[in-house]
Amino acid sequence: MDLSIKDLVHIFFPERCVICDKQLLKDEKIICVVCRHELPLTGFTHEPDNEMERSFTGRSKIQSATALLYFYKKGSVQKLIHELKYRGHQEIGAFLGKWLGEEIKSSKRFEIPDMIVPVPLHQKKLKKRTYNQVSEFGKSISEILNIPFVEGVLKRNIYTETQTYKHRTDRFQNTRNIFEVNNLGAYHGKHILLIDDVLTTGATLEACCNELQKITEIKISIATMAYTP
Ligand SMILES: [Zn+2]
Repeated sequence: MDLSIKDLVHIFFPERCVICDKQLLKDEKIICVVCRHELPLTGFTHEPDNEMERSFTGRSKIQSATALLYFYKKGSVQKLIHELKYRGHQEIGAFLGKWLGEEIKSSKRFEIPDMIVPVPLHQKKLKKRTYNQVSEFGKSISEILNIPFVEGVLKRNIYTETQTYKHRTDRFQNTRNIFEVNNLGAYHGKHILLIDDVLTTGATLEACCNELQKITEIKISIATMAYTP
C-alpha cells in the first residue's frame, strides 16, 4: 500500500462536515456530498427580474442581484454562515464564492462588473472578529471573473446592527450616514459588484447603494451568499 502524506493526514486527522458533522471522505471538502446536494440553491443568477431584484424596487437602482442560497432559520445555510462568521471557518466563504463566481461567469444575463466591493465592517467589529466574513467570498469571485476585489471603497462610520430596525422609515433614519465612499472621484462610470453575507431586510445593502450612487455614472449589482425569502 502506497500512502501519501495527504492520506496519512486524513487517517489521523479526519475533517468533519460543517453542516452534519459526519466524517468527510478523502475527496470531500468542507461539506459532505449529501449536505451539498441538499443546499437550497436560488437560481437567481440565471433568472431575470428575480425576487431579490424586485426587493430593491423603489429603494435602490441596481443592475442585477443574485444570492447563491436561500437562508432559513435553523437550516443548514444558517449553520454554514454561523461557522464562517463566528468559528473562523473562512474557507466556507471561499467555497461559496467560487460556486457563485462560476454561476455569474456562465450566466447569459448577469453582466460582468468592473470590480467587487464588500460591505465593510466597522473597525471595532473587525478588530473583534479579526476578519471580514465576506473577504474570502469576494476574493474567490474576483479570481473567477478576473476582476479586482477592492476593500476600502466604502467606510463604515457608525457601529450598529442595521437589521434590527423593523420599519422602513426607522431604518432609513438609522442607516443614513452609516457608510461613506472614500474617494468619490476614483470610481466614475464603474460597474461595482457589492457583496455581503446574507440579505435579510436589505437595509444594509440599501444604505451602501445609496452612498455609492453619489459616484457619477455608477452601476451597481449585488451578490450575497444567501437570501432570506
Ligand atoms: Zn454533511
